[in-house]
Amino acid sequence: MTSVPLSGTEVPRVHTVLSLPVHILADYPAWLTEHIARGLGSQVITLNAEMAIQGERNPELAAVIAQAELVIPDGAGVVLYLRSRGLRVQRCPGIELAESLIAQAPLRGWRVLLYGGAPGVSATVAERWRCQFPGLNIVGVWHGYLSATELSDLTEAVQRTAPQLILVGLGVPRQEFWIAQHRHLSPTATWIGVGGSFDVWAGAKSRAPRWLRDNHLEWVYRLYQEPWRWRRMLALPQFAWRALHSRVSDRP
Ligand code: UDP
Repeated sequence: MTSVPLSGTEVPRVHTVLSLPVHILADYPAWLTEHIARGLGSQVITLNAEMAIQGERNPELAAVIAQAELVIPDGAGVVLYLRSRGLRVQRCPGIELAESLIAQAPLRGWRVLLYGGAPGVSATVAERWRCQFPGLNIVGVWHGYLSATELSDLTEAVQRTAPQLILVGLGVPRQEFWIAQHRHLSPTATWIGVGGSFDVWAGAKSRAPRWLRDNHLEWVYRLYQEPWRWRRMLALPQFAWRALHSRVSDRP
C-alpha cells in the first residue's frame, strides 16, 4: 500500500484493521480536494465492520481495498478498534465526505457523475442537489440496475465526460469491484463507493438520529429501519470477537 505525499497537505498514516489498511487523517475532505486539484485519481473505500469481515473472507475484496488510495474509518466498529489500540481517530462517515465534496464541486468546477440506486433514486438526488448547489455540473445520472447495453453506454459516458467525482451506490462489494474494474476510464477521477447513500439523499431512508450516531449505535437504527438486514449484521459481533482476539494475539 502506498500513500501519495502531497506538499502542503497531510500524509495519511496507514493502520490495519483485521489486515486491511485504513488511512488516518485529520481532514479527509481537504486531502481529497487537494488530490482532485492535482488531477490524481483515487478510489475511496468507506470501511466499516461489515466490510472488514467480508474482506477477511473474500481475498478479491481485500485486494481491492489494499489498492485504494484512501480507506476511511466509516464505521463506529472500525474507530473503536483503532482507539482500543491507542490511536486518536475520528470517524469519517462516507456519506458526509461525499456531501462535503458535492458542496465544493460547483465552486471548483468539478464534473460529477452519479451511478446506483433503484430507478429514479439517483435522478431525484440530482434534482435536489441542482437546486441546493446552483452551478453543480452533474454530467451523468444512472440507476443501479442497468441492462448490458445501458452499462456499455455508461462506460462510454464516463470516458467521454471525464468526471472529477464519481459516486457509485451499488452496495458492498459490488460497487468496490465495479470501481476497481472501471477506474481506468477516468483515471483522474475520485471514485467513492457510497452504498445506500442515494436512498438517504433522495429522502427514501433516513440516517440515525445524531445521539445514536454519537454513541456508536447507528447500527441499531439501521436494524430497526431494515430488519431484514439482521443476517448481514451478524458481522458486527463477529467483528467485535475478531477485534478482541487479534488484540489478545497482538500482546507480547
Ligand atoms: N443497488 C443497486 N444495484 C444493485 C444492487 C443494489 O443500485 O444491483 C443499490 C440499492 O438500490 C441500494 C444500494 O445499492 O441503494 C445498497 O444499499 P445498502 O444500504 O445495502 O449498501 P451497503 O450497506 O452494502 O453499503
